[in-house]
Amino acid sequence: MPNSMRYCQTCRFQLDKRGFKRHTLSAIHRKGKLIRAMLERNCITHAEIARRIGLTRERVRQLALQMGFAAGRSRHAICRMERRRKAMPEFFVQAQKRGFEVELLGTRNAYINGKLCIQRKACWHDVGRGEYKYTYLSIRQPGGRFDICAWKLPDGRFLILPKKLTGFRQTTFNPEESEHLGTASSSHYYRQHIERWSLLGRPRRSK
Ligand SMILES: [Zn+2]
Repeated sequence: MPNSMRYCQTCRFQLDKRGFKRHTLSAIHRKGKLIRAMLERNCITHAEIARRIGLTRERVRQLALQMGFAAGRSRHAICRMERRRKAMPEFFVQAQKRGFEVELLGTRNAYINGKLCIQRKACWHDVGRGEYKYTYLSIRQPGGRFDICAWKLPDGRFLILPKKLTGFRQTTFNPEESEHLGTASSSHYYRQHIERWSLLGRPRRSK
């Protein structure tokens, strides 16, 4: 940096000698840390920062540039991406952790390895009375288009079924080792499909 330039550690940008003196006395310098903290959060818009600090939006845009932040428009795009990721169903998060490429379509469906996937919830279902009472998992046929559906079980595991095995409207089965596989009205029994990630193919990268 040329001799005549000064660097503000708080705001992390440089100014000339005269500008620096003025800067250290300014409201922007006093609130430099706060402004930086807000710019670091992509979901706070320049307009919002301007409102909170009492500057014009244009001034915030200039400051952001000086401080080395992405332009407003790309911050907005990053924010949208971050929000989507936060809202992403657990199944897609888990798939990503396992090295699968996840391509989100909306908040509820995604392509994983080129297969259209959705997530639903399974719940417990009590059958029988007294000592003949059994607890089964209850799942319903998902609507809409999909290749693979994953039901999140109450214990956090996933039941992963391909479309061709989802011909039921509703079915129940015992997820644990037992002679009693399901209720009399249902013959579907999917214990082997719990955590059957291999249905998605091979992960592209391993972690
Ligand atoms: Zn400063």
